[in-house]
Amino acid sequence: MSTTLLYRAFGTVGYRYVRQSFKGGHVTFTIDKPRERLRCSNCGSGDVWVQGGIERSFRAVPIGSKPVILKVKVPRVRCFSCDKVRQVKVGFADPRKHYTRSFESYALDLSRSMTIKDVAAHLQVSWDTIKDIQARSLKRRFGKPNQHKLRQIAIDEIAIGKGHHYLTVVLDLVSGAVVFVGDGKGAEALEPFGRRLRASRAKIRAVATDMGKAYIRAVRDNLPGVVHVFDHFHVIKLFNDKLSALRRELYNQASSDRQRKILKGTRWLLLKNPENLDKDRNERQRLDRALTLNLPLTTAYYLKEDLRQIWSQPNKRTARRVLRDWQARARASGIRMLLQFANTLEEHEEGILGYYDYPISTGPLEGTNTKIQAMKRQGYGFRDRDFYKLKILGIHETKHALVG
Ligand SMILES: [Zn+2]
Repeated sequence: MSTTLLYRAFGTVGYRYVRQSFKGGHVTFTIDKPRERLRCSNCGSGDVWVQGGIERSFRAVPIGSKPVILKVKVPRVRCFSCDKVRQVKVGFADPRKHYTRSFESYALDLSRSMTIKDVAAHLQVSWDTIKDIQARSLKRRFGKPNQHKLRQIAIDEIAIGKGHHYLTVVLDLVSGAVVFVGDGKGAEALEPFGRRLRASRAKIRAVATDMGKAYIRAVRDNLPGVVHVFDHFHVIKLFNDKLSALRRELYNQASSDRQRKILKGTRWLLLKNPENLDKDRNERQRLDRALTLNLPLTTAYYLKEDLRQIWSQPNKRTARRVLRDWQARARASGIRMLLQFANTLEEHEEGILGYYDYPISTGPLEGTNTKIQAMKRQGYGFRDRDFYKLKILGIHETKHALVG
């Protein structure tokens, strides 16, 4: 091995080759730094006197499948310029790390297509070493997202695992990047985000969330003056939930077995968009039979179809008309569930129609959620929560979230 090759392969600038040995399947290169190249790590002066030192080993990129170790004596020097006694800087590795920078970037390259476990096995280091390398890289790149540039964001909570663990995720709708991951859900989870926003003087114009009270409060407190858009998928889903509950109620009240039988299988039919009803399975007919049987269900069903119209109007003015007309019809029905929903829409009118100022939704967070769930299935859970959150901050860069 020559000094030049060593430098090219391992990035050991300023060191020279001393000797090599092969033991226990490892390749070990001993290297050292010529005296004239020693510098004070405090002031950079070359006017130094060696006073001992320590021997250190670093993992370097492997040669073929053979792990490589660099052995180097790191001198301690007294500086005549600043009068400090310090260890000289290693140069090819970060402070307190037992691997070289080129080893680190090689591990990161592998991490793009391999799990932590696989990279660790391939490089013959521990799982924690690879995790540490990934965490440091993620922190460098995503640890402090630039919130000053945020314009449009979406916020939603994501359920983690079978328990009731939640993370609240904030997505930059323009870049598609996750810019904040908070513990839990509700206003509390968003507090650190709000603090950072105020400090960064972000100029956010619009934010999409569901109609949850916590979000309304958090947006009002932290983002005064922004357009708060209530996500239309959540509004429709909320209505669908109420529709299912109404069907269940009617089923329980049904006076005959025949009625019950007709109502029984209609849950999914009620929730389907009418254009998706399956002709071959007579879904339209089965739905119609249930609807004929029950006036309240029929009314609610047609209102469900009309609800979607609120978001497909040419402008905000006609949308407001459609929204209010919907409320009037719901109230005229006299059905309690519809009355309540009309009130909900009335209370949230501005946020629902905010869609016409900024046609945004929390929809893009669904893709992020899918990736987070996939990451969980890789067998990684809460071994290290901060690391998990960092992974989520970098998730828009990964096609497949590899963690386990
Ligand atoms: Zn000095």
